[in-house]
Amino acid sequence: MTALLSLRGVTKRFGGLVAVNRMDFDVTEHQVLGLIGPNGSGKSTTLNLISGAFPLSAGSISLRGQPITHLQAQDIARRGIARTFQLVRLLPSMTVMENVKAGAVFGHRRHWGHEADAVAEAMLEKVGMGGRGHMTVGQLTYIDTKRVELARVLAGEPRVVLLDEWLAGLNPTELEEGITLIRSLRDEGRTVILVEHVMDAIRSLCDRCVVMAAGTKIAEGTPTEVLSDPAVIRAYLGD
Ligand code: ADP
Ligand code: MG
Repeated sequence: MTALLSLRGVTKRFGGLVAVNRMDFDVTEHQVLGLIGPNGSGKSTTLNLISGAFPLSAGSISLRGQPITHLQAQDIARRGIARTFQLVRLLPSMTVMENVKAGAVFGHRRHWGHEADAVAEAMLEKVGMGGRGHMTVGQLTYIDTKRVELARVLAGEPRVVLLDEWLAGLNPTELEEGITLIRSLRDEGRTVILVEHVMDAIRSLCDRCVVMAAGTKIAEGTPTEVLSDPAVIRAYLGD
């Protein structure tokens, strides 16, 4: 199968700290790749490098064989890579609808005017926020801010969705709903990189996992393979 997204030798240094160290992995189209590892292992930084938030210190990233290493974040978004943040980032004084419409206007497939409204409304419906577009972000509960952020990402119709601990902090019912929602993304043909600590979610959603510890890839394989790998167990116990 062809790789949709490829990382080769991807490295990020912050001063003397090597946060991401020569990472290599491929993400195949229509797959959910789990990027897992203890706190501080470099997962969010890896997503930041893919989405163009930071420049790489070394290495390269390509999308369908085209290098995207030196593109600006907005150009990477335009090519179809969109992300949620570990700490939700929405425009708090704007309405839910305005936030999601921004995703429709600035995403991969760009929608304008009434079309952007229709796409935004459909995505709000999809994430369980139908009819609540008029609310301001400041009025929302935690789970609802996460739903809106996902709707904003999906409104741009990305090919690759990067989810940074999107399931963190949800109660058991919300968690089940969230897992179903992520599964539906794969079912509709999107490719997902899932940074996650919730093991049940990793087991039930991921086709493959890459495990990081201290910036380095220490294992790669199916969830069952990596979660029974002694090196992975050691890395988690040492956390
Ligand atoms: P994870 O998401 O796996 O918990 P991060 O990618 O957030 O880990 O962080 C990896 C390492 O890089 C940590 O030691 C963190 O403190 C450091 N780091 C992350 N972002 C920055 C930054 N902008 N400046 C300096 N150090 C950073
Ligand atoms: Mg993180």
